[in-house]
Amino acid sequence: MRADEEGFLYPHIDASKCINCGMCQKVCPSINPAEVRRPLGVYAAMAKDDALRLASSSGGVFSLLAGYILAKGGVVFGAAFDHNDWHVYHRSVETEDELAELRGSKYVQSDVGDCYRQVKDFLDAGRTVLFTGTPCQIAALNKFLAMYKGLPLENLLLVDVVCHAVPSPLAWKKYLEKRASSDYTDRAGGLRDIRRISSRRKDCGWKRYSLSLGFANDKEYLSVFSDDPFMRGFLAELYNRPSCHNCPCKNLRSGSDITIADFWGVGAHLPDMDDDKGTSLVLVNTEKGGQSFSSISTGLNCKVADFDNAVKGNPAIVRPTNPHRNRSGFFRRVLKSDFDSLVNRMLQPPLKTRIRAFVGINLRRLGLHK
Ligand SMILES: Cc1cc2nc3c(=O)[nH]c(=O)nc-3n(C[C@H](O)[C@H](O)[C@H](O)COP(=O)(O)OP(=O)(O)OC[C@H]3O[C@@H](n4cnc5c(N)ncnc54)[C@H](O)[C@@H]3O)c2cc1C
Repeated sequence: MRADEEGFLYPHIDASKCINCGMCQKVCPSINPAEVRRPLGVYAAMAKDDALRLASSSGGVFSLLAGYILAKGGVVFGAAFDHNDWHVYHRSVETEDELAELRGSKYVQSDVGDCYRQVKDFLDAGRTVLFTGTPCQIAALNKFLAMYKGLPLENLLLVDVVCHAVPSPLAWKKYLEKRASSDYTDRAGGLRDIRRISSRRKDCGWKRYSLSLGFANDKEYLSVFSDDPFMRGFLAELYNRPSCHNCPCKNLRSGSDITIADFWGVGAHLPDMDDDKGTSLVLVNTEKGGQSFSSISTGLNCKVADFDNAVKGNPAIVRPTNPHRNRSGFFRRVLKSDFDSLVNRMLQPPLKTRIRAFVGINLRRLGLHK
């Protein structure tokens, strides 16, 4: 896998070694999308343990599922930060202590490395495995494992997060360099001075979540998502992976057993399931998923919900988004520009819209326009 100029990893094929078996195309989820599914069960869920819920992005369902697998002697795969340069990669954990590394959303594409092969080896060795990731990662793992006959797939639980898109690792690096060279560190560019990152702090509530970076000198950067330059660019589709805009894994096509997400809008349908500390949407997609979800039910406050209502609050379940009109402009300038100013400039409305708004305001002031 090699990073392109936007920082996204792509497979690189050594033509001199290729034997034209066509296997890479057979296992590619983009070329072979699966069938659209509807969930067997839809739930709003909140972990009863408030501390766990506050440390999680949504309602903490991931940690309960992971704890259940670990208690059976299993292995859990998910996304973690590398504490040296803060890139995001997939790894396995086998203890509750290590589980904290996987907890919480990291809004950047995670590098899966050779985790798919590791999953196969654990299954071969008779271990139970929980693999969590984006829908495309789950679809890819499914295709990879299908190449091997006789694997005990009944010991594998697949859980995906609803994913609107994954941002560029290059944009993430430039953002961190900017933060680490501003008022928060004692020396410029010190990514090593970052001690912890949380993309979903709930200091201002679950709905107004914040991004937080803690530094070696005990200073903290904390910003509500709508003010933070990285989150604004991510949510405006300024630097997300091109294939996300045509995602072949929407509509539960990943093949996962369970899908987890934020239950945005839950208060309108189930008001007692919204205390602004985080509510998970849980889509149970298979019988195996249903059995695992039942096994963690004592740790949850949970109510049955309606799929169409869930989609209304969370269209990312079924629909990809369009790229921002300045996406290529961003990548043309990202290496040479100040990250924050570039995002501000790229997200400004087009000149025509700004002129129209300016003229409208002044006409209204003069009483010439309603
Ligand atoms: C890139 C991305 C986009 C998302 N978009 C949406 C959305 O549009 N709507 C929505 O409702 N929810 C979205 N989510 C999911 C949401 O943020 C929560 O991850 C989810 O609700 C689980 O929360 P939790 O409280 O159960 O557990 P948490 O502990 O918060 O769950 C973390 C889980 O997410 C996995 N994870 C974290 N970062 C990554 C990553 N970079 N790549 C792959 N897996 C990762 C971890 O392995 C773990 O399984 C997105 C998540 C990511 C990573």
